[in-house]
Amino acid sequence: MNSMNSNSPMPAVGIDLGTTYSVVSALDEQGIPRSLPNAEGELLTPSAVLFEGEQVIVGREALKAMGGDAIHVADCPKRYLGRRVYPRALAGMEYPPEVLQAWILNKLRLDSAQRLGKFRQVVITVPAYFDEVRRKATQDAGYMAGFDVLDIINEPTAAAVAFGFQQGYLSESGEARKAQNLMVYDLGGGTFDVTVMRIEGSEFKTLATDGDVHLGGRDWDQRMVDFVAEEFLRRYTKDLRDDPNSAARVWRECEEAKRTLSTRGKATVACDHEGDWVRTEITREQFESMTQDLLDRTSLTCQEALRAAGMDWGDLDRVLLVGGSTRMPQVRKMLADLSGREPDHGISPDEAVAHGAAIRTGVLQSQFEGRPPKMKIQSVNSHSLGVVGRDRRTDRRRTAVLIPRNTPLPTSTKRLFRTHTENQRSILVQIIEGENPNPDYCSPVGKCSVPALPKGLKAGSPIQVEFDYAENGRLKVQVTVPGTEIRLAHELRRENSLGQEQLDQFRREISGFPPPVIPLSS
Ligand code: AMP
Repeated sequence: MNSMNSNSPMPAVGIDLGTTYSVVSALDEQGIPRSLPNAEGELLTPSAVLFEGEQVIVGREALKAMGGDAIHVADCPKRYLGRRVYPRALAGMEYPPEVLQAWILNKLRLDSAQRLGKFRQVVITVPAYFDEVRRKATQDAGYMAGFDVLDIINEPTAAAVAFGFQQGYLSESGEARKAQNLMVYDLGGGTFDVTVMRIEGSEFKTLATDGDVHLGGRDWDQRMVDFVAEEFLRRYTKDLRDDPNSAARVWRECEEAKRTLSTRGKATVACDHEGDWVRTEITREQFESMTQDLLDRTSLTCQEALRAAGMDWGDLDRVLLVGGSTRMPQVRKMLADLSGREPDHGISPDEAVAHGAAIRTGVLQSQFEGRPPKMKIQSVNSHSLGVVGRDRRTDRRRTAVLIPRNTPLPTSTKRLFRTHTENQRSILVQIIEGENPNPDYCSPVGKCSVPALPKGLKAGSPIQVEFDYAENGRLKVQVTVPGTEIRLAHELRRENSLGQEQLDQFRREISGFPPPVIPLSS
């Protein structure tokens, strides 16, 4: 392995905040990323939160409680980011998903502090396919957990960085290495991402990204749960899926059996419900056939990403596997068949993302100290960004795309809006993300209201709205009146997003930290 020698005065960590498991990594004294065990001594912390009376418990204990106390456990809150609240009340309270994510991050922070001493700085990873709203929610979760979030980077980029580091691209002589085209195939517990990248010296360039935020190992588990539950139903005419505790126990059994099937030809699942039980044997062949359509969905997405990058399978030098679900032999076989080469086994599918994030902390810290950047990351936006417009002819609402999907970031674009009436004093711009021409089928990002236009503007006066899309996929909006010096006060009101006051309150409650003196820009 290669050393980057961080020389960093302050500890910082990289966190892979996964749907089912999270991993923390920090650079050691030689600048090599190492995963940090949690307080229970495990490298992978289950992303589950148990509300037990006054206590909030995160990790293995919370996951175990799923078998008997499922209604008090939030598991996989990442799946619900972007919604106003988690789908179930917990301990009588409705929690926004990012608050649950903050509890997970807070545990990771406290456990890491036991090894590193006090620290605040973090780089958190998100699926490349996350939209702006989910990225903002993740950044907010970091804030509420008492972190100073240095950056949010894409999981596949982080995996490629870990790979590039391991291959020597980030060393002194790295610039001279041959450029490579990579596909990062990331199938985790709850999300699927595929990204086509190019590594050239110390530059990590994303060419295209695609994915499915609702496809992951969980869906494979569910197929087996349904198979076993149907067997039980046939025998006892009772559906164990109606009881959350029985369903959670069977799910744990199935998840184990799925892992067994990655190395053996068959596995057994025992399930009990209301005093009756069934033992079912499942072969790998059966499991692969009951999940074939899920696998096919991932291969179609890979084709789409390659097409968007202007490439074919033959143009790839490597296929990197990320996420625990890539251990399933069906995934490896499919990718080997399509690409004509064995997928790369060099990086750990569980740790690569956290390692890449830790390497990023080192690079950013040295940049903050005034040293030249050692790494360049070029991302693309994973969804088209636009506004709700009106078709002049039909007067129907329609999506006006401003920044098309897969545009290299950072980027900015300007758009002129016109006032409708004489002396109009405010305008409202609705920002959306998505590919559908009908705005109702796109995701709302937020509304930008300009409440105090200057007096006396004629009808049809131009108002310029500028969108700045940062490298980390976060959006800033600026409004000006052309021909004047006026920069208008505006507010980007986000859908389903917590206000600063609520963020500060949760930050105190979860991490015990007051808001920082210098407000974080959002
Ligand atoms: P991640 O979100 O990357 O931590 O991936 C977690 C997912 O990987 C879960 O759905 C696990 O069930 C799955 N997983 C972990 N190990 C294996 C394995 N050996 N075989 C199949 N799936 C696995």
